[in-house]
Amino acid sequence: MPDLSFFVICLYFPCQGFAGFQDFGLLQLACHLAFSKYGGREAINTPAAIIAFIMLRVTFLGTGGSLPTRNRNPSAVMVNREGELLLFDCGEGTQQQMMRAKTGMMSLSSIFISHFHADHFLGVPGLIQTMSFMGRTEALTIYGPQGTEEFTELFRALGFFRLRYEVRGVDLRPGDVLEREGYSIHALRTEHSVPSLGYALIENMRPGRFNRERAIELGVTPGPLFAKLQRGEPVKVEDRTISPEEVVGVPRPGRSLVYTGDTRPCEAVLEASRDTDLLIHDGSFADEMADWAGESMHSTAGEAAALAKEAGVRQLVLTHISSRYSDDSTPVLTDAKKVFEEVLVADDLMELELSYQKE
Ligand SMILES: [Zn+2]
Ligand SMILES: [Zn+2]
Repeated sequence: MPDLSFFVICLYFPCQGFAGFQDFGLLQLACHLAFSKYGGREAINTPAAIIAFIMLRVTFLGTGGSLPTRNRNPSAVMVNREGELLLFDCGEGTQQQMMRAKTGMMSLSSIFISHFHADHFLGVPGLIQTMSFMGRTEALTIYGPQGTEEFTELFRALGFFRLRYEVRGVDLRPGDVLEREGYSIHALRTEHSVPSLGYALIENMRPGRFNRERAIELGVTPGPLFAKLQRGEPVKVEDRTISPEEVVGVPRPGRSLVYTGDTRPCEAVLEASRDTDLLIHDGSFADEMADWAGESMHSTAGEAAALAKEAGVRQLVLTHISSRYSDDSTPVLTDAKKVFEEVLVADDLMELELSYQKE
């Protein structure tokens, strides 16, 4: 039988380009079509097999500092986890950036605001109105630091219009955790000039690797019994019971990312970033502006890179780039690279796909 991953790649990834094919159910459908045809349907029914292909994509919609520039919009980062859209900050013009980047917007389940400086939230009123015009009916929740509930009421009341769906605001405190299906969001204490939060998205542990050869050795026939073992259920082969532990390895970590918003380098971000796959950190200034970075409660490239190095992150991305580097962000990148090699300076519409760590 042809390799499992071959069909998923053939069917799933080309379809990513079509609007609407960003839904977990459709991924399963694609897998089922492929495997019912080729007789391997049971294998793809298992959680382990499906989890192995969950997409986690980050799109940088706005990467500028407090002042928007010709080529940098104010802050916004979109995360697409298998069709569910999560938006971190929503600066002015974010909805048009979504259109340019073709991220979609109707599957947006939550907005996480880091703090209520204008460059991080002014896009919210326009975005929620646009989704109403486009026929949205699903509720939307806006999370953020103290004051979010109150600000959300203001967004809803701004101008003459009636929203066709529910928008509610929820104040979070540092340390709060939102449990979602397959992942959790952790609110982090950051250090800025107004109440502020960073966020960590942490996927749940994945099932361990299935040892197909060992299962066959033990007399298990490929098919439904494989699926049972992978689901963590014992199976009977003749007069013997095979337990999942005999053929399934130890659980493996999922992926994780941290978004800081505007902040000085700080303890909570350092701790949340340990061994993380992606750290998106305030990198407003090159090191020459260290005094001003401290005064304005932002970070320099070198400071963010030092934190990333200490935390052992896989990839650092600097964002919230000051307008003084509008035409050339090389000084920011150069200063960061002196300390930590795996660093990028974000550009508007840049995309990253997060893969699982190699075992
Ligand atoms: Zn800002
Ligand atoms: Zn700020």
